[in-house]
Amino acid sequence: VLRRSALTLLITLTLGVGGASARPAQESGPPDGAPVETHPADADLAAVEWRPSRALGLPFRRGRLLDGVLLPGEGINYFTYDGPLRQVPNRAWRRWGTDYLVASLLIVIAEHRAANPGAPRIGIGDLSRPEGGPFGARYGGLGHASHQNGLDADVYYPRLDRRELRPGAPRLVDPALAQDLVDRFVAIGAEKVFVGPRLQLRGPRDVVSKLRYHDDHLHVRLYNPSH
Ligand SMILES: [Zn+2]
Repeated sequence: VLRRSALTLLITLTLGVGGASARPAQESGPPDGAPVETHPADADLAAVEWRPSRALGLPFRRGRLLDGVLLPGEGINYFTYDGPLRQVPNRAWRRWGTDYLVASLLIVIAEHRAANPGAPRIGIGDLSRPEGGPFGARYGGLGHASHQNGLDADVYYPRLDRRELRPGAPRLVDPALAQDLVDRFVAIGAEKVFVGPRLQLRGPRDVVSKLRYHDDHLHVRLYNPSH
Protein backbone atom coordinates (compact mmCIF):
# COMPACT_ATOMS: atom_id res chain seq x y z
CA VAL A 1 0.00 0.00 0.00
CA LEU A 2 2.88 2.32 0.84
CA ARG A 3 4.44 1.73 -2.52
CA ARG A 4 1.18 2.35 -4.31
CA SER A 5 0.74 5.66 -2.51
CA ALA A 6 4.26 6.59 -3.49
CA LEU A 7 3.48 5.89 -7.13
CA THR A 8 0.29 7.91 -6.98
CA LEU A 9 2.32 10.77 -5.54
CA LEU A 10 4.96 10.38 -8.23
CA ILE A 11 2.32 10.46 -10.96
CA THR A 12 0.80 13.57 -9.44
CA LEU A 13 4.16 15.30 -9.19
CA THR A 14 5.22 14.22 -12.66
CA LEU A 15 1.95 15.28 -14.25
CA GLY A 16 2.03 18.51 -12.30
CA VAL A 17 5.44 19.31 -13.69
CA GLY A 18 5.28 17.88 -17.18
CA GLY A 19 1.59 17.37 -17.98
CA ALA A 20 0.32 19.47 -20.85
CA SER A 21 -2.93 20.36 -19.09
CA ALA A 22 -1.15 21.37 -15.91
CA ARG A 23 1.37 23.64 -17.51
CA PRO A 24 0.30 27.28 -17.23
CA ALA A 25 1.65 29.72 -19.78
CA GLN A 26 4.23 31.50 -17.71
CA GLU A 27 5.61 34.77 -18.97
CA SER A 28 8.60 34.61 -16.71
CA GLY A 29 10.14 31.15 -16.47
CA PRO A 30 11.87 29.90 -13.37
CA PRO A 31 14.33 32.34 -11.84
CA ASP A 32 17.87 32.07 -13.13
CA GLY A 33 19.66 29.13 -11.66
CA ALA A 34 16.52 27.53 -10.23
CA PRO A 35 16.50 23.78 -10.87
CA VAL A 36 13.82 22.70 -13.35
CA GLU A 37 12.23 19.48 -12.20
CA THR A 38 12.09 16.88 -14.92
CA HIS A 39 11.41 13.18 -15.02
CA PRO A 40 12.43 10.74 -17.77
CA ALA A 41 8.72 10.05 -18.40
CA ASP A 42 7.73 13.70 -18.85
CA ALA A 43 7.64 13.75 -22.65
CA ASP A 44 5.61 10.55 -22.96
CA LEU A 45 3.24 11.59 -20.16
CA ALA A 46 2.66 14.97 -21.81
CA ALA A 47 1.44 13.25 -25.02
CA VAL A 48 -1.50 11.55 -23.26
CA GLU A 49 -4.97 13.05 -22.93
CA TRP A 50 -5.57 12.40 -19.26
CA ARG A 51 -8.84 12.01 -17.44
CA PRO A 52 -9.77 10.20 -14.22
CA SER A 53 -10.72 6.61 -15.07
CA ARG A 54 -12.46 3.86 -13.18
CA ALA A 55 -11.98 0.11 -13.41
CA LEU A 56 -15.20 -1.81 -12.74
CA GLY A 57 -15.63 -5.53 -12.08
CA LEU A 58 -12.62 -7.80 -12.24
CA PRO A 59 -9.85 -8.01 -14.84
CA PHE A 60 -11.08 -11.48 -15.83
CA ARG A 61 -14.81 -11.34 -15.06
CA ARG A 62 -17.42 -8.71 -15.85
CA GLY A 63 -14.75 -6.07 -16.20
CA ARG A 64 -15.49 -2.63 -17.65
CA LEU A 65 -13.46 0.50 -18.17
CA LEU A 66 -15.04 3.90 -17.48
CA ASP A 67 -13.44 7.04 -18.95
CA GLY A 68 -10.36 5.19 -20.09
CA VAL A 69 -7.20 6.79 -21.39
CA LEU A 70 -5.66 6.03 -24.80
CA LEU A 71 -2.00 5.04 -24.83
CA PRO A 72 -0.46 6.77 -27.88
CA GLY A 73 0.92 4.48 -30.58
CA GLU A 74 4.51 5.23 -29.71
CA GLY A 75 6.64 7.55 -27.61
CA ILE A 76 10.20 8.41 -26.67
CA ASN A 77 10.57 5.31 -24.54
CA TYR A 78 8.19 2.79 -26.09
CA PHE A 79 6.44 1.50 -29.17
CA THR A 80 3.21 -0.49 -29.32
CA TYR A 81 2.88 -3.84 -31.02
CA ASP A 82 -0.15 -5.59 -32.53
CA GLY A 83 0.23 -9.29 -31.75
CA PRO A 84 -2.40 -10.74 -34.10
CA LEU A 85 -1.40 -8.53 -37.06
CA ARG A 86 2.32 -8.59 -36.13
CA GLN A 87 2.75 -4.90 -36.76
CA VAL A 88 3.75 -1.60 -35.14
CA PRO A 89 1.84 0.28 -33.82
CA ASN A 90 -0.92 -1.66 -32.14
CA ARG A 91 -4.44 -0.75 -33.27
CA ALA A 92 -5.82 2.10 -31.14
CA TRP A 93 -8.85 0.16 -29.87
CA ARG A 94 -6.49 -2.29 -28.13
CA ARG A 95 -4.63 0.48 -26.27
CA TRP A 96 -7.07 1.76 -23.63
CA GLY A 97 -6.43 1.64 -19.89
CA THR A 98 -7.07 3.44 -16.66
CA ASP A 99 -5.08 6.63 -16.19
CA TYR A 100 -3.33 4.76 -13.38
CA LEU A 101 -2.20 1.92 -15.68
CA VAL A 102 -1.06 4.17 -18.53
CA ALA A 103 0.89 6.46 -16.18
CA SER A 104 2.44 3.48 -14.39
CA LEU A 105 3.60 1.92 -17.68
CA LEU A 106 5.13 5.17 -18.92
CA ILE A 107 6.89 5.91 -15.63
CA VAL A 108 8.25 2.37 -15.12
CA ILE A 109 9.49 2.14 -18.70
CA ALA A 110 11.09 5.59 -18.63
CA GLU A 111 12.87 4.81 -15.37
CA HIS A 112 14.01 1.45 -16.75
CA ARG A 113 15.57 3.14 -19.76
CA ALA A 114 17.10 5.93 -17.70
CA ALA A 115 18.74 3.34 -15.44
CA ASN A 116 19.97 1.18 -18.33
CA PRO A 117 21.77 3.38 -20.87
CA GLY A 118 21.46 1.95 -24.36
CA ALA A 119 18.37 -0.10 -23.50
CA PRO A 120 15.96 -0.23 -26.45
CA ARG A 121 12.47 1.25 -26.47
CA ILE A 122 10.03 -1.16 -24.85
CA GLY A 123 7.22 -2.80 -26.80
CA ILE A 124 3.77 -2.54 -25.25
CA GLY A 125 1.08 -4.95 -26.46
CA ASP A 126 -2.61 -5.04 -25.57
CA LEU A 127 -4.20 -3.11 -22.71
CA SER A 128 -8.02 -3.10 -22.86
CA ARG A 129 -10.72 -2.17 -25.35
CA PRO A 130 -12.07 1.43 -25.20
CA GLU A 131 -14.82 0.55 -22.72
CA GLY A 132 -13.26 -2.64 -21.46
CA GLY A 133 -15.24 -5.88 -21.47
CA PRO A 134 -14.32 -9.24 -22.97
CA PHE A 135 -11.08 -9.41 -24.97
CA GLY A 136 -11.16 -13.07 -26.01
CA ALA A 137 -10.05 -14.93 -29.12
CA ARG A 138 -12.66 -13.27 -31.36
CA TYR A 139 -10.53 -10.11 -31.11
CA GLY A 140 -7.60 -11.90 -32.71
CA GLY A 141 -4.80 -14.25 -31.78
CA LEU A 142 -5.18 -16.33 -28.65
CA GLY A 143 -7.21 -13.56 -27.07
CA HIS A 144 -7.15 -12.66 -23.39
CA ALA A 145 -9.07 -14.11 -20.47
CA SER A 146 -8.44 -10.84 -18.62
CA HIS A 147 -7.55 -7.32 -19.90
CA GLN A 148 -11.21 -6.42 -19.21
CA ASN A 149 -11.04 -3.34 -16.99
CA GLY A 150 -7.97 -1.28 -17.85
CA LEU A 151 -5.63 -2.69 -15.22
CA ASP A 152 -3.73 -5.26 -17.36
CA ALA A 153 -1.01 -4.71 -19.94
CA ASP A 154 1.30 -6.91 -21.99
CA VAL A 155 4.91 -5.70 -22.18
CA TYR A 156 7.39 -7.34 -24.55
CA TYR A 157 10.78 -8.29 -23.13
CA PRO A 158 13.72 -6.33 -24.52
CA ARG A 159 15.84 -8.30 -26.98
CA LEU A 160 19.58 -9.02 -26.64
CA ASP A 161 20.12 -7.55 -30.11
CA ARG A 162 18.17 -4.43 -28.99
CA ARG A 163 15.93 -4.56 -32.06
CA GLU A 164 12.39 -3.24 -31.63
CA LEU A 165 10.73 -6.55 -32.37
CA ARG A 166 8.89 -9.25 -30.47
CA PRO A 167 11.45 -11.71 -29.07
CA GLY A 168 10.22 -14.81 -30.89
CA ALA A 169 12.28 -17.25 -28.80
CA PRO A 170 13.58 -17.22 -25.19
CA ARG A 171 17.21 -17.05 -26.35
CA LEU A 172 16.45 -13.66 -27.96
CA VAL A 173 15.39 -12.10 -24.63
CA ASP A 174 17.88 -9.91 -22.74
CA PRO A 175 17.62 -11.58 -19.32
CA ALA A 176 19.06 -8.68 -17.30
CA LEU A 177 16.83 -6.04 -18.88
CA ALA A 178 13.79 -8.32 -18.64
CA GLN A 179 14.48 -8.92 -14.93
CA ASP A 180 14.90 -5.19 -14.40
CA LEU A 181 11.44 -4.58 -15.85
CA VAL A 182 9.91 -7.31 -13.68
CA ASP A 183 11.59 -5.85 -10.58
CA ARG A 184 10.28 -2.38 -11.35
CA PHE A 185 6.68 -3.56 -11.75
CA VAL A 186 7.03 -5.46 -8.46
CA ALA A 187 8.46 -2.33 -6.83
CA ILE A 188 5.48 -0.15 -7.74
CA GLY A 189 3.19 -2.69 -6.09
CA ALA A 190 1.77 -4.60 -9.07
CA GLU A 191 -0.79 -7.20 -8.08
CA LYS A 192 0.58 -9.75 -10.57
CA VAL A 193 3.41 -10.10 -13.05
CA PHE A 194 3.08 -13.18 -15.27
CA VAL A 195 6.30 -14.36 -16.89
CA GLY A 196 7.26 -17.18 -19.23
CA PRO A 197 8.10 -20.64 -17.88
CA ARG A 198 11.06 -20.93 -20.26
CA LEU A 199 12.75 -17.78 -18.87
CA GLN A 200 14.66 -17.53 -15.59
CA LEU A 201 12.80 -14.49 -14.26
CA ARG A 202 12.35 -14.19 -10.50
CA GLY A 203 10.31 -12.26 -7.97
CA PRO A 204 8.16 -12.58 -4.87
CA ARG A 205 6.11 -15.75 -5.24
CA ASP A 206 2.80 -14.06 -4.50
CA VAL A 207 3.37 -11.54 -7.30
CA VAL A 208 5.55 -13.07 -10.03
CA SER A 209 4.05 -16.25 -11.52
CA LYS A 210 5.03 -18.38 -14.45
CA LEU A 211 2.35 -18.76 -17.08
CA ARG A 212 2.49 -20.36 -20.50
CA TYR A 213 2.43 -18.14 -23.58
CA HIS A 214 4.45 -15.50 -21.67
CA ASP A 215 7.94 -16.29 -23.02
CA ASP A 216 7.90 -13.23 -25.31
CA HIS A 217 6.07 -10.77 -23.04
CA LEU A 218 5.22 -10.21 -19.40
CA HIS A 219 1.71 -9.44 -18.30
CA VAL A 220 1.38 -6.88 -15.53
CA ARG A 221 -1.80 -6.39 -13.51
CA LEU A 222 -2.23 -3.45 -11.13
CA TYR A 223 -4.41 -3.38 -8.07
CA ASN A 224 -7.65 -1.50 -8.57
CA PRO A 225 -6.87 1.89 -6.97
CA SER A 226 -10.55 2.52 -6.20
CA HIS A 227 -10.93 -0.65 -4.07
ZN1 LIG B 1 -1.86 -10.20 -21.05
